[in-house]
Amino acid sequence: MAEAAAIKNILDPALVLGFSNLREMRTVGPHRIAAGHGIYVTDTDGKDYIEGASCFYCSALGFSEEELVEAAVRQFRELPFYSSGLHRAVPAVMELAEKLRDLTPIKNAKIALGATGSEANDFLLKFVRAADRMTGRSGRWKVISRLRSYHGGTLATASMTGVPESHAQFGLPLPGFLHTHQPDYFNMALPGEDEAAFTARMLGDLRDLIEREGPETIACMVAEPVSLSAGLVPPPEGYWAGLQALLAEYGIRLFADEVITGFGRTGPMFGSETYGIDPECITLAKAMSGAYLPVSAVVMAPDFYDALELASDEAGGFTHAGTYAGHPVCAAVALRTIELFEERDILGHVARIAPRFAAGLAAFADHPLVGDTRSVGLCGAVEFVAAKAPRRAPQPEGILSKKFAAFAKDRGLIVRMPYNSVCLAPPLVITESEIDEMCARFGRALHDLEAWAA
Ligand code: PLP
Repeated sequence: MAEAAAIKNILDPALVLGFSNLREMRTVGPHRIAAGHGIYVTDTDGKDYIEGASCFYCSALGFSEEELVEAAVRQFRELPFYSSGLHRAVPAVMELAEKLRDLTPIKNAKIALGATGSEANDFLLKFVRAADRMTGRSGRWKVISRLRSYHGGTLATASMTGVPESHAQFGLPLPGFLHTHQPDYFNMALPGEDEAAFTARMLGDLRDLIEREGPETIACMVAEPVSLSAGLVPPPEGYWAGLQALLAEYGIRLFADEVITGFGRTGPMFGSETYGIDPECITLAKAMSGAYLPVSAVVMAPDFYDALELASDEAGGFTHAGTYAGHPVCAAVALRTIELFEERDILGHVARIAPRFAAGLAAFADHPLVGDTRSVGLCGAVEFVAAKAPRRAPQPEGILSKKFAAFAKDRGLIVRMPYNSVCLAPPLVITESEIDEMCARFGRALHDLEAWAA
């Protein structure tokens, strides 16, 4: 910490920061986070913050879990690096795959590993091409995802990400990446439209998109069970059942991006379980290793994998690999993370404290600037409005949530602020009293926001 603090505010830093205003970085520099303990992080000025969003919605076991440090050190001493591929594999990496096979809702799954969530999603988009080619579906090359969902930073996954403003900078999306609605009932419902009618309209629009593009050209749809990057938009009544039926009708595969929702974030181990979704493949990352080291996974249904095996037969091998597709130290840490989930009954803990978290957020519902509060497991959102009745959204979009995030930072709370919402997703190990403290800091920041907006 002392050493980190000695790194003084570097203006015009060499480091290029993602999702940051690059010009501002030249004159202001980034907020420098130097240490962590439990649900708290400390900046180089020595100020503590509750990491209310687990950094990028990652941290499960907090910022100071010694067991994970020890697991890394053990593996570093045994075999610090070796790639798994070319007919060789490291036991710790194989063990992680076995563990994931037992854990995930896809029975008898096969597991490919990667380093990041983007990589897992990108690999899956590549694998589906082979699987489709081997199963007489070669004409299917397009991918559907949802507006406002984030799926990664590579060319393909950034194309899949449903944020047109982000696409514009890079000349994306690539051809074949299609986007359908995020089913945001709060913001998109027509006057008097109930949830069931809204769902029918959303799915009707998806059907139109599929028909327009040609169902025989579409390989898959990739979606998060619930999307925090979109502001935690809960699936409206009948949405998942209807969506799955629709895709099945057209032979379009469904893949779940569980990079955030995997590992207890929504309560059960996987978001697919929370919402009764039956995807053919699932991608995982982030909390899988407590986010201590980069490791990700593509979980594939047996039939899907069998097609890859056929492709391998045809070419004399599976022409896919990654130097760090299953780094031994990352795998050992992920394995220990999953063991800790079991030993400490992290899912039981989340189930016990989620109601307090939900109640803490719901208590802000009457505030004049709050239009909606929502939560599932340990993800929550508070959506701001400029006026409640008749409802008026903040203009420009995001002004209140951005301002709130700045006040929250002053009050010692780090949040994320997608669109007009503020999202909270604290480390899963948060205690009841820490939830109370987080909500108290939230309340103070809300008070500051109200004074500013007056
Ligand atoms: N998918 C989802 C749902 C994500 O939220 C993210 C990252 O935030 C990714 C994929 C990409 O993961 P990574 O940043 O590890 O590449």
